[in-house]
Amino acid sequence: MKNLYSEKEARVFARRYRPADLARRLYTSRLLGGDPRLVLHGGGNTSVKILIEDGAGEKIQVLRIKGSGRDLAAIEPADMPALGLAPLAGLRARKRLSDSQMIDALAAARLTAGGPAPSVETLLHAFLPAKFIDHTHANAVLALTDQPDGRALCARVFGSRAAIVPYFRPGFDLARSAARQFEANPGIEGLILLRHGIVTFGETAQQAYGRMIDLVSLAEKYLAPGPKRVFAAARLPARLLPQARVAPILRGCLAAGERAPMVLDFRTDRMIRAFVDGRDLARYGRAGLATPDHLIRIKAKPLIVPPPEQGREDKFRAAVGRALKRYVAQYDAYFTRQDKRQGAGKIPLDPLPRVILVPGMGLFGAGRGAREAGVAADLARANLEIITHAERIGKFRSISEKQAFAVEYWSLEQAKLGDRPELPLAGRVVVITGGASGIGRASALAFAAEGAEIAVLDLEAAAADRVAADVGGLGLACDVTRPGDVAAAFDRVCAHFGGIDIVLSNAGRAWQGEIGTLSDGVLRESFELNFFAHQSVAQNAVRIMRAAGNGGVLLFNASKQAVNPGADFGPYGLPKAATLFLMRQYALDHGKDGIRSNAVNADRIRSGLLTEAMIAERSRARDLSEARYMSGNLLGREVTAEDVAQAFVALAKAEKTTGAVLTVDGGNIAAALR
Ligand code: ZN
Repeated sequence: MKNLYSEKEARVFARRYRPADLARRLYTSRLLGGDPRLVLHGGGNTSVKILIEDGAGEKIQVLRIKGSGRDLAAIEPADMPALGLAPLAGLRARKRLSDSQMIDALAAARLTAGGPAPSVETLLHAFLPAKFIDHTHANAVLALTDQPDGRALCARVFGSRAAIVPYFRPGFDLARSAARQFEANPGIEGLILLRHGIVTFGETAQQAYGRMIDLVSLAEKYLAPGPKRVFAAARLPARLLPQARVAPILRGCLAAGERAPMVLDFRTDRMIRAFVDGRDLARYGRAGLATPDHLIRIKAKPLIVPPPEQGREDKFRAAVGRALKRYVAQYDAYFTRQDKRQGAGKIPLDPLPRVILVPGMGLFGAGRGAREAGVAADLARANLEIITHAERIGKFRSISEKQAFAVEYWSLEQAKLGDRPELPLAGRVVVITGGASGIGRASALAFAAEGAEIAVLDLEAAAADRVAADVGGLGLACDVTRPGDVAAAFDRVCAHFGGIDIVLSNAGRAWQGEIGTLSDGVLRESFELNFFAHQSVAQNAVRIMRAAGNGGVLLFNASKQAVNPGADFGPYGLPKAATLFLMRQYALDHGKDGIRSNAVNADRIRSGLLTEAMIAERSRARDLSEARYMSGNLLGREVTAEDVAQAFVALAKAEKTTGAVLTVDGGNIAAALR
């Protein structure tokens, strides 16, 4: 592990932030946060003790410590609440301190209003005298501590440079034990927290950081030699299903029985494959987590499924269903057992896994949104790596089930997840064709505002990417008139999010010409985009929704032309009329699959690059005055792309509606459906 400290960089921070100690604290915190081998996603914490003058002119010692759940990689002063050190250090003399007493003490010591709560490991920082303290969950250190003889091994590797602290849940007991170790060994550079992580300290930010790098490097050096192959390989089927086919099956099983849908995030590489392909995966794969810090996000155990054999999807789906049922039963049993034994009286969390291991393939992180799934996948990968290292030098051993429960169901850990109200379409994946502009773009924004994950398909990759960036989604180039393109794009969406729940078939364009003299080519070209493309989009949606087995939603952008033809708009109206019936045919044939199929009949849209309907209407109304155009509907009100987008969202949520057309045109009796 390389020491990245640069005095030049540190001075840049010192110019930007005050006081200088805090500036240097931020600098090395970000160095630690930038290395995934040290901390991941809000893990780890750092602090600095600073002497300041209070309002009365008295000098007081202040502890600036990372706020709970804040990310070291991007830490700012506002992420480090200030606490008076004296009242916290005074707690060191106590023998016992309950959680609620600790929370009260932390609240009472705060010197600044607002901002995040201080880290749950604040007392550890307060009880140690050093000015700068760094704490990480370094992979290499955990590979040593997570062993049956972790203590002896660490004593050998770190010698007199670090003292060893037995496992305690973060809080008063851990802080007290750490302080005792420090007081008994004043010359040490750091503390090894068994089955948890490592702490280093120093009188300067550079010293504390340098010691972290040094001690972690000692652990890395110890792990480096040894056999390359750690796990004996299992026999796998010769041909496996592709990942894009596996993901919807897994995701479908997770959401079966009307459970809230989750998003998946896939990871694979040589290390992950060696792990999931191992013959004894059932043992080491379910041996627990490397650090309690990850428990609240990915639970102690992953779901392990059999290898997905090519051509046997039904067998695989059934096996996943059985494995999941077993997983849920075991989680429920674990909760009941420990809740009773510890007299905790807690409410169980949902019993679903957050990590799925697939032999022959890799790992999936699962979460209620793409971000959460990504965090789960990152933490899972780190755990696989630590377990691999631990098994190379011995046997991986995690904390006990009792200890895991005490962390997973600790209110201060659960608080890290926050309790933001969940949005109505959280966990749903929406595909929008023609998503880069007009109604497509407005719909991408509207579905994202409801919490859905968005895939934007458009002819141009750059345009799709722009909208995708706005909604934190996936942008893909796709010519919907080429069935191969459509199938590939839908597979990419599955590979990225794990499946598809809602498809808005929106791409279209208006052609015109007098029907009696029209060239055949124009009509056929229009049918390709305005009818056949809708069919190929819907077919691919059905393919994926059926694999998941939880139904889905098809939405079509129909046009007023499908109901009320305009003069010279035959090339546009004819395929749109066919598409309206296509919508009904899907409702009829796939209601049994739980797939709903609906359309919006939009007209006289007045915003942005408003696609076919607008172009058509404009051309038709060429000779009419702008004023007449604007008031050309019964309500005399402007209809926007956003209005149409809201209609699509409403249809997506209307769980008992299929085969319906929703009209959004401000009122046009000639185009009313009857
Ligand atoms: Zn920790």
